[in-house]
Amino acid sequence: MRIAVGGIHIECSTYNPVLNEEKDFRVLRGEELAAAPYFAFLKDYEGEFLPTIHARAIAGGPVARHTYEAFKAEFLERLKPLLPLDGLYLAMHGAMYVEGMEDAEGDWISAARALVGNDCMVSASYDLHGNVTQRIIDALDMYSTYRTAPHIDVEETMRRAVKMLTESLKTGVKPILLWAPIPVVLPGERTSTVDEPAKSLYDLLPKIDAVDGVWDASLMVGYVWADEPRCTAAAIMTGTDRTVLEREAKRLAQAYWDAREDFVFGCEIGSTEECVEKAIASTTAPVVLAESGDNPTGGGVGDRADLLAELIARGARGVIFAGIADKAATQACYTAGIGATLDLSVGASLDTKGSKPVRGSFTVKFLLETAEASEAQAVVSIGGIDLVLSAKRRPYHNIADFTRLGLDPHKAKIIVVKSGYLSPELAPIANPNLMALSPGVVDQFVERLPRLRKTTPTYPFDKDFDFTPETALSARTIGR
Ligand SMILES: [Zn+2]
Repeated sequence: MRIAVGGIHIECSTYNPVLNEEKDFRVLRGEELAAAPYFAFLKDYEGEFLPTIHARAIAGGPVARHTYEAFKAEFLERLKPLLPLDGLYLAMHGAMYVEGMEDAEGDWISAARALVGNDCMVSASYDLHGNVTQRIIDALDMYSTYRTAPHIDVEETMRRAVKMLTESLKTGVKPILLWAPIPVVLPGERTSTVDEPAKSLYDLLPKIDAVDGVWDASLMVGYVWADEPRCTAAAIMTGTDRTVLEREAKRLAQAYWDAREDFVFGCEIGSTEECVEKAIASTTAPVVLAESGDNPTGGGVGDRADLLAELIARGARGVIFAGIADKAATQACYTAGIGATLDLSVGASLDTKGSKPVRGSFTVKFLLETAEASEAQAVVSIGGIDLVLSAKRRPYHNIADFTRLGLDPHKAKIIVVKSGYLSPELAPIANPNLMALSPGVVDQFVERLPRLRKTTPTYPFDKDFDFTPETALSARTIGR
């Protein structure tokens, strides 16, 4: 069984003006892919796995057209000499937006299908924050997506997609794939599987898997910060019994639709001003305050200084703020050295029109030793605030992200992170967790975003319309 492996993995806010170029991706090519820990699980499955290319970046703005075209050309170039193939496994995210292109994953996956031909079985794994189209479904035979958000089942999901593929090749059974779009698209922070109603909805999936004739039940939340016609939630089923698959997809779609008004934030929320005031007044610590509108892992720019300005204005103390992406300010700290005090303009360096910088006198406390300029990070202090500056957009979601900079999050009164729902490492230390519905390109208050390219009524942008779930088969499946 000869199975090629590859894919492209990024989540793009169409509201984010900062383009992703090749340098923003971590690219695994050929043997690097085969040796990568991310794909190490493949050794547990029968088959000869043949690496192509896998490109991955943290969430952000659109992918530059030339960058996308170069990755796609390389993927197809690497796929071609491997033909004929029995199978192809695609490890995708699903919320890519490429400059001037409609349905970027549809373009990638259908190009792969055209090359590998009709006899090859193709399986894809997705992030549940991806957006799916009929074109994508039409090019695939099998599909599986994450069942947790925050995502703690990445490998499990990839395993499900690969297991279906190897089983199908081994037994010769070609499955049916179908989907039921659900006209709802909500932020991940209102659909975390830690909280209801998502928790109960996702708890249904293993039970559906257990039904005879079902191989995999997937439920897509979709990605809301893309103003594209394809934005939608969806139930997607792979299996062998069409009647059962249709019934379960409709049932799941109906359950999601029925719960649409129950999706609320899982933590205390407020405006930037309200949250800063509450954090300062808190009698417990550390308060973990998430600046949600600028969360780089959700597609935010990560360079906004609004919340920093508010903390400074109110004289907040005992604060660790991690962090703000600002290459020039970070470099200035390295030039000045530890102990130096310098006047800096911080923030609004990438999206120069979206927000305003903070200007002030900062003292350099720590500089991360690194050979890579893009990895540079500095800790500076102003008043009672320790602020992390980074040369590139990046999250601070793990305890080690702090400790390697000489910061102890457990000892802070207030920790500010650019995040939506908290990561599995920060959530347990939050006492309490506050989420500022701050402005930015991943504004959690989605109803205030412009939806210029929406073509059908979609909740919560539209509220007064009816919905009856309907399923559509993959073109691959018709006649199976
Ligand atoms: Zn996701």
